[in-house]
Amino acid sequence: MVTVACDLCGSEEHTLLFVKEGFRHVRCRRCGLVFVNPRLADHTQSQMRSGTGAMGDEFLTPPQEKRLMHEVAVLEPFRRLNRVLEVGAGRGWFIAAALKAGWDAWALEINSQALERLAAVNPGRVIKEPAEDFQCDPGCVDVVRMWDVIEHLASPSRAVANIHRVLRPGGLLTLATTNFASLSRWVNGPEWVYLNGADHIVLFEPETIRRLLIQVGFTAISIRTRSFNLRRKLYHPERELPVRSKLLLPFRKIVDETIRLTLYGHQMIVTAVKKNNEN
Ligand SMILES: [Zn+2]
Repeated sequence: MVTVACDLCGSEEHTLLFVKEGFRHVRCRRCGLVFVNPRLADHTQSQMRSGTGAMGDEFLTPPQEKRLMHEVAVLEPFRRLNRVLEVGAGRGWFIAAALKAGWDAWALEINSQALERLAAVNPGRVIKEPAEDFQCDPGCVDVVRMWDVIEHLASPSRAVANIHRVLRPGGLLTLATTNFASLSRWVNGPEWVYLNGADHIVLFEPETIRRLLIQVGFTAISIRTRSFNLRRKLYHPERELPVRSKLLLPFRKIVDETIRLTLYGHQMIVTAVKKNNEN
């Protein structure tokens, strides 16, 4: 295990929130970032080896497919160089949708099983490097997508700075991550399904993700949230736990439908634009 400073502000002062299965979850006293500390010393290497869970869904449902095509369609105003990069491309579902829409779609991935799959989806367009260190010409892509990835990274700030570098001025970053400041986390406590200290080592909230994007130089930051989830889980060994209170079940659906109007949903969807000096 290795002790780390806050990735967002560099502070070494933090407050312990809770321990789950041996992993200490702390909050930075200076900026409020929540992260696992200490963490596994070989964290990035273990992400390369982790199983099919890291690859995303094996099959897409028709609504998922439709949502993906919609996601690609809304990128249209950003198409100038015709190039999109997905950081942590998993099984390549988004890459396949982008290809269908005529984009030159590149995938960045380190998980060995996902890499095999991506080589089949879009041969010759796969970069096998960590998000913090990958090399691409500056300003060479219109859009970077990074979904359910940033919580796995040893240094989100270095990764987002690197993404900012490869985006062209006026280019778009779209990212999704779990929301530590969500109703789901509050209701479920440390057993919340997304708290797995071996994998999810940085847990953002609307305030901390905004701070990171501003720090790196992004503008036009938009944050929305969705979903209320009652799943509770342990990971070492892996097992689902029963819902904390059955009384909550009748409310799940109605809360799920309305929580998107707030910033308390358990999935955060964020977009940000690289400043364009021409404007
Ligand atoms: Zn901090």
